[in-house]
Amino acid sequence: MCVLGLGLIGGSVMRAAAAAGREVFGYNRSIEAVQAARFDGFDVTEHLGEALDRAAGSDALIVLAVPMPALPILLGHIREAAPDCPLTDVTSVKGAVLREVEQFGLLDRFVGGHPMAGTAHSGWAAGNAGLFIGAPWVVSVDDHVDAQVWTLVTQLALDCQAVVVPARSDEHDAAAAAISHLPHLFAETLADIAGEVPLAFALAAGSFRDGTRVAATAPDLVRAMCEANAGQLLPALEQGIELLTRTRDALASSGSVAELVEKGHAARMRYDSFSRPEIITTVVGTENWRDELAAAGRAGGMIRSALPVLGSQR
Ligand code: NAD
Repeated sequence: MCVLGLGLIGGSVMRAAAAAGREVFGYNRSIEAVQAARFDGFDVTEHLGEALDRAAGSDALIVLAVPMPALPILLGHIREAAPDCPLTDVTSVKGAVLREVEQFGLLDRFVGGHPMAGTAHSGWAAGNAGLFIGAPWVVSVDDHVDAQVWTLVTQLALDCQAVVVPARSDEHDAAAAAISHLPHLFAETLADIAGEVPLAFALAAGSFRDGTRVAATAPDLVRAMCEANAGQLLPALEQGIELLTRTRDALASSGSVAELVEKGHAARMRYDSFSRPEIITTVVGTENWRDELAAAGRAGGMIRSALPVLGSQR
């Protein structure tokens, strides 16, 4: 397999895949990261053409691990040099990536992915082989998805010791807006409000640290994922503003924040006891397999080991 972009996520995918015994090579545009990765024993280059020729020659699974704004440049090169390679990505939004890949005519061999793991740090040095252990890794089951490529991408996620959550791209984006992109905007809001009062920083402890942790992420990355998911983030943001507005009005008129606090507490308790049933019965490639997996993912199901594939012995 071939990883394009050796930052936190690409660098971690490369390490985890190598640790699982896979043959993996990669590309990064900055020579510093290439040198650091080589020093750590990895097979990497700063020449994109070289990596793509090699991918095309070995029918490698290409993993796009760059921020959203860099995708068109890479897709243009892939279209020229390695259009038949199976292709996946790790981008935090899925609908916008799907449209981009379609524009480049590469949809046939593409299955979107999103490992739900990360830190607020960037670059090769921030990565580690254990980043995805136990983490959900979304593998898309959109209508166009090819069973063979889907199986390859799922196997990569399982090799990285993640658990696979099948989802359609639009449903992923709505869920990601609620659990990732909106929390980013709220974290920035909390940090900004506290930043106006020096005493607040002096007193800050667990609540502030936990609630603002993701505000330490590089602003460009946060902007890239929030802005690329505007269609799903806007309704989530509106819902948040409405809840807060109602809470402000209730506090002003009756002195109570009970409604929001009780709803929020109950939802958090449901999250703590949320069960994640294992998906085992779907045979990949049979009629309706994508719909079946999308329904199972929607219900909270996860894949922990490879599913049987139509026409194979597994
Ligand atoms: P990073 O900054 O650590 O790495 C980004 C990589 O992209 C670097 O190797 C950089 O050299 C490369 N890059 C940037 N612009 C480029 C360009 N124009 N041409 C070629 N290469 C370019 O970022 P990351 O956290 O690894 O994020 C990579 C992807 O993973 C993003 O799409 C992000 O949405 C997604 N993601 C991030 C997290 C997270 O927590 N950070 C979690 C899941 C998915």
